[in-house]
Amino acid sequence: MNPPPAIEVQNLRYRYHDGTEALGGVSFRIEPGECVGLLGPNGSGKSTLLLHLNGILPDEPGANGTVRVNGALLSRANLEAIRRQVGLVFQDPDDQLFCPTVAEDVAFGPQQLGLVGSEVKHRVQRALVQVGLPDFDQRTPHHLSHGEKRRVCLAGVLACEPSILVFDEPTSDLDPRGRREFKALLRQIPATKVIATHDLELVVELCRRVIVLDRGVIVADGLTRVVLDDEPLMLAHGLEKPHILFHRHPH
Ligand code: ADP
Repeated sequence: MNPPPAIEVQNLRYRYHDGTEALGGVSFRIEPGECVGLLGPNGSGKSTLLLHLNGILPDEPGANGTVRVNGALLSRANLEAIRRQVGLVFQDPDDQLFCPTVAEDVAFGPQQLGLVGSEVKHRVQRALVQVGLPDFDQRTPHHLSHGEKRRVCLAGVLACEPSILVFDEPTSDLDPRGRREFKALLRQIPATKVIATHDLELVVELCRRVIVLDRGVIVADGLTRVVLDDEPLMLAHGLEKPHILFHRHPH
């Protein structure tokens, strides 16, 4: 039997307390191992959608529709199990880093999962190696560069060993080298990935598929090269055709 989709969202609607409809009926599925770019202008609902994938906004009065993760319906009852499977990397590293040392910050997630002792230590060290910061365990997070902070945040999520990684704007505020390095890092991680971003080069390089949101609904879902090459569609939804497409041959 085929494995269930990594993520299956059906007719998801969400209205914030003040009445703003952030998602107006969103449906899609993502297969295990896919890397999907989530595009859309500011305010189109990307962050709201990511929060739903990790169960941050479940069962609220403003929520409607279903989210399944690896086949399991997301509900309050299985929130903890779902959060073990979906790791969310926030947009602002300062929202995620609050401990005196990098090691403590990276250990926080595994400890929340109930792990202790050498298992935590082991996971912290492995995650720091994965993000290319093996000797940073005793450094102070808020003294690190922006790129290093982002890597530490990613290490904290990887240490929980989720099968699905969800990123909100992973390369915003990074300089070109930082962006290049972070993209190389993302490419090496075998998990299923959903990446909300305005960085179209990242999408072209890493994501075979994109989903475009505008005003809380999906306006395109398909192969990256096809969707991004559709200039009228891109312009109609506040996006642009990336220059990189003019210089490379489609694969
Ligand atoms: P994006 O990530 O694409 O910029 P968001 O998911 O942040 O979009 O926002 C979608 C819509 O929901 C926007 O209209 C935004 O103003 C609104 N919104 C986001 N967060 C809140 C909130 N906490 N309370 C009320 N409205 C919100």
